[in-house]
Amino acid sequence: MNADSQERLFQRRRAALVDELREKGITDERVLAAIGAVPRHAFVDPALRHRAYRDEALPIGLQQTISQPFTVAYQTMMLDPRKDDRILEIGTGSGYQAAVLCEMGARVFTIERHKPLLDRAVQRLERLGYRVVARHGDGTLGWPAFAPFDGILVTAGAPEVPKALLEQLREPDEHHPGGRLVIPVGDAEGQRMTRITRTGPDRYEREETHVFRFVPLIGEGL
Ligand code: SAM
Repeated sequence: MNADSQERLFQRRRAALVDELREKGITDERVLAAIGAVPRHAFVDPALRHRAYRDEALPIGLQQTISQPFTVAYQTMMLDPRKDDRILEIGTGSGYQAAVLCEMGARVFTIERHKPLLDRAVQRLERLGYRVVARHGDGTLGWPAFAPFDGILVTAGAPEVPKALLEQLREPDEHHPGGRLVIPVGDAEGQRMTRITRTGPDRYEREETHVFRFVPLIGEGL
């Protein structure tokens, strides 16, 4: 198969994945458009490309995964990023989620604790034209230099909510709503998706939805 027909095949599969996510309950058309635009096959090992548009998590090395597309779409829908929002992602992994956030017009900051994964993700994102600010380190401490954030998205399962992340959410004012933290919270068996919205200097609102299963969040801020 030549490169053009390969690209067309991936495009058809991506469109079918978007239909599948819509049927599974993803209703935010902005999220679906972003999933429809990002070439997920470019974020996985070449040997796994034929599986890139199935709704499944795939290994990316160092015992980590690129999350299932449904999970990416679900978390992004809960985060509800707006154009020019400052979004901090904890757990860059392959870089795919960061690319989805860029497609939605967010200004993306992302932290990964495994340097080889971060380096690979940064190269990929650059090659595809997605601009992010990325750092190797421990995301449980947030990124105070770039705070406050309109949204913080944690893509690994947390035993508890890191306090530093709550402090780095934007306080609501007349121009902006309060920042949102989307984080799966629980033990190794499963984590409940949780959204915490800052509603005042010391006030937060917490909502919990479905149970997911992520690789663990590991860090000092827990
Ligand atoms: N968002 C990723 C993507 O689109 O491919 C998927 C991320 S994977 C499910 C979770 C990632 O979180 C792993 O790469 C893991 O190394 C990273 N991680 C775990 N604890 C972390 C921490 N404290 N700080 C930064 N990254 C962390």
